[in-house]
Amino acid sequence: MKIKPIIFKLSYFKSKTLPDGAPGANPVYAAVEKPDITQISTIKKALDELEKVEYLENDLLYMKILGANPPFKNGKEAVRWLEESKASILYADFSNPNVHACLNYNSKEGITILINSNYKNNCSHSDILAISEAIFHECGHGKDMDSENSIQEELNCLSLNVLAHRFYQKKYKGIFENKNSFLYSQGVSLYPKLFFDFYKTALKNRVADKYGYLQSGDNKHPATTLAKDIKRIYESTTYI
Ligand SMILES: [Zn+2]
Repeated sequence: MKIKPIIFKLSYFKSKTLPDGAPGANPVYAAVEKPDITQISTIKKALDELEKVEYLENDLLYMKILGANPPFKNGKEAVRWLEESKASILYADFSNPNVHACLNYNSKEGITILINSNYKNNCSHSDILAISEAIFHECGHGKDMDSENSIQEELNCLSLNVLAHRFYQKKYKGIFENKNSFLYSQGVSLYPKLFFDFYKTALKNRVADKYGYLQSGDNKHPATTLAKDIKRIYESTTYI
């Protein structure tokens, strides 16, 4: 595992009304921390769990009908991709504490997945699973080897979290019960509820709030109706 004492600047523009990291918004800085033996072990265990993830029957079909296309067919494919792309996985102190994880890609440094250092001492079994979901999500962003993003790309990557989470819920019954910290309530436990709610209003509003500033789709991720609906919701709100 490569350890690079770098401060990444994850976006370059400033304004007051957009989410941190958005073009035109406050940049998100990430100061990489040297992982200790516990953190290295957590990442290794997370990858071991991720490698066994298979989507539940019907979940993949449900996602595709909804308008989200997971970039990997299972967890093993993502772990292989991590190995082949020689990606580093590190913890970092983010200027925005609400960021769970992010991916830094450039042609010189290659791919680095950064996990919020607020989680560096989270090493219970459920934490390991949650971190594996975050890694899975970022692998989805990295797979296209570009720095472009879109609502559709986010939906596709969020579907990875959700599909892995539902696999873990079935494999380890009750594992996420009573887990209410930010990592769960605003992350890994939130999106499965939103994606699988009969009404998609809360899902659309949440994605519009977090990612509505992005273009609806891009060349590699053409926008589905869901992404277009989310963009319309964003544009109809007052914060643009
Ligand atoms: Zn994302």
